Amino acid sequence: MIQTVTRESYDVIVVGGGIAGVSAAVTAARQGASVFLIEKSINLGGLATNGLISWYEPLCDGLGKQMLYGMAEELLQLAIRYSFDNLPETWGGSNPMEGRYATMFSPTVFSLALDKLVVDSGVKLRLDTYATYPVMEQNHCTGVICESINGREFFGAKVVIDATGDASICHRAGIPTELGENYMTYITHMTELKQTDACKNRQWLNVGSDMFGNGHPADMPKLYGDSADAQTEHLLYGKAAMLDRVSKKPRQNYDIMTLPFVAQYRTIRRIVGAEDFCAVDGEVCADSIGACGDFRPKHKGKHYTVPYGALYHGDFDNILACGRIISAPQGDGWEVARVIPVCALTGEAAGKAAAYCVKTNQTVNRITYQQIP
Ligand SMILES: Cc1cc2nc3c(=O)[nH]c(=O)nc-3n(C[C@H](O)[C@H](O)[C@H](O)COP(=O)(O)OP(=O)(O)OC[C@H]3O[C@@H](n4cnc5c(N)ncnc54)[C@H](O)[C@@H]3O)c2cc1C
Repeated sequence: MIQTVTRESYDVIVVGGGIAGVSAAVTAARQGASVFLIEKSINLGGLATNGLISWYEPLCDGLGKQMLYGMAEELLQLAIRYSFDNLPETWGGSNPMEGRYATMFSPTVFSLALDKLVVDSGVKLRLDTYATYPVMEQNHCTGVICESINGREFFGAKVVIDATGDASICHRAGIPTELGENYMTYITHMTELKQTDACKNRQWLNVGSDMFGNGHPADMPKLYGDSADAQTEHLLYGKAAMLDRVSKKPRQNYDIMTLPFVAQYRTIRRIVGAEDFCAVDGEVCADSIGACGDFRPKHKGKHYTVPYGALYHGDFDNILACGRIISAPQGDGWEVARVIPVCALTGEAAGKAAAYCVKTNQTVNRITYQQIP
């Protein structure tokens, strides 16, 4: 029989230290909650860092109007504080062709900066720790079981935020979920020596992404990332294809600087929440956590609001979801919800709602977002 050691309790436990989880944890801590952030890898940032997705989609609508502020903007600025960017000086403005409020960033340096942000915010952080199961009393979650070098531990919480990117905590708690459909993508970061030489005098970094399978080709099979075998197959396929690609390059001139450390599925699993985010242009939902634009060039000028109801299921009183697992059906909703700035927005809302519920002794499924001061 494996022993589970009961450890301390927190106001809020956040599972997953990707963009959404960091945003949630930092926000809840700033609101005065005691917060425990559990991350299974050894670096914060999730897909945006370990997954080498180093393009921060726009905070603006593509026609010069800024849509996202708060943590979404704070994290964009943090992403480029210590390393390179290509943020246009005059994004949008009078000339929408000048670019959008979006940027490239260094995934490695951003991850280091996220550590500092989280620690400075007073969040208790645990890396290299896998949160395996929520402990449920009917539909109420009393805390989370984790596995690490310490063995198996239980941490108690008043509110649990699932920011895992695959909704595994919500799923195991019994919240209904749906699977996402994906096409094969494998992105690495590469450098070519000849180009590096050419860049030297211009003081640019020669960092590029090498990828295949980008876009959504109609003839590719759809992939699902909800099992360990499927994820392994996905990773092995991607790596083998990348090795094949490398073998066709000049050996002395080419290097892959780093492989991704997570499977690059765009959508794995999302909750079926109290309300769906469907990305309907111009529609203002009654209890919105905030607004966003649409990163896709063909959808410039669209304005969406995100309902608080997309972050929880009505039968579960102390579990919130944020990031790419919120209640957003396949199609426009999930496509917009999953990108980095919107993950920061939903994380911020989850952190704020969690801290408020703890402070006022209320449940996450009975408050409105509008009542939070
Ligand atoms: C191929 C591809 C291209 C993309 N391109 C862009 C782009 O150009 N721009 C853009 O803005 N977005 C892009 N995205 C989307 C974006 O990168 C992600 O959707 C977003 O970063 C997800 O953030 P998240 O915090 O919700 O989840 P994740 O980044 O998945 O973070 C989840 C975190 O939780 C941790 N975790 C999971 N389970 C557990 C557990 N049980 N216990 C402890 N920790 C756990 C993980 O290790 C991870 O750190 C792209 C995605 C893909 C796959």
